[in-house]
Amino acid sequence: MSTEQTFIAIKPDGVQRGLVGPIVSRFEQRGFKLAAIKLVTPPRELLEKHYADLAEKPFFPGLVTYMLSGPICAMVWEGRDAVKTGRTLLGATNPLASAPGTIRGDYAIDVGRNVCHGSDSVENAQKEIALWFKEGEVVSYKHSQFDWIYEKA
Ligand code: GDP
Ligand code: MG
Repeated sequence: MSTEQTFIAIKPDGVQRGLVGPIVSRFEQRGFKLAAIKLVTPPRELLEKHYADLAEKPFFPGLVTYMLSGPICAMVWEGRDAVKTGRTLLGATNPLASAPGTIRGDYAIDVGRNVCHGSDSVENAQKEIALWFKEGEVVSYKHSQFDWIYEKA
């Protein structure tokens, strides 16, 4: 377990449904530190790179269209075990299989409208952060709550 950064995105349905605040709150309240946040309408090429591992899937064209359908709130969250814990906060890919209390389990039904994205490994988190953010957009600062959240650094 170590301090990690993860890429979390609120997809167009999450932005349109007014879920930016609730989703940001869950990461804040858990104790993670916000390192970057912006509202973006990325070009198709960026989304095709982001989901390159799914390019052969039958749902890929629909997935890209969905991701192009409105602004996306792109974020970097930082903290101990942030990648794995971020996925836990999101819930399962299919919202119907997501436990209540998770973001998808509380706010979504359809796998093709599952309101959020989270990196699935430390290596992919690093790749995704580099893809979505320019240098300088990811901010380094001391979290004032640090000593109240962690027993030891
Ligand atoms: P994630 O890491 O939990 O987001 O899941 P994946 O990386 O496997 O898939 C990326 C995204 O593609 C998911 O979040 C869904 O929005 C979408 N997706 C995955 N599987 C399906 C599917 O079977 N049908 C549809 N329509 N979309 C899917
Ligand atoms: Mg994935």
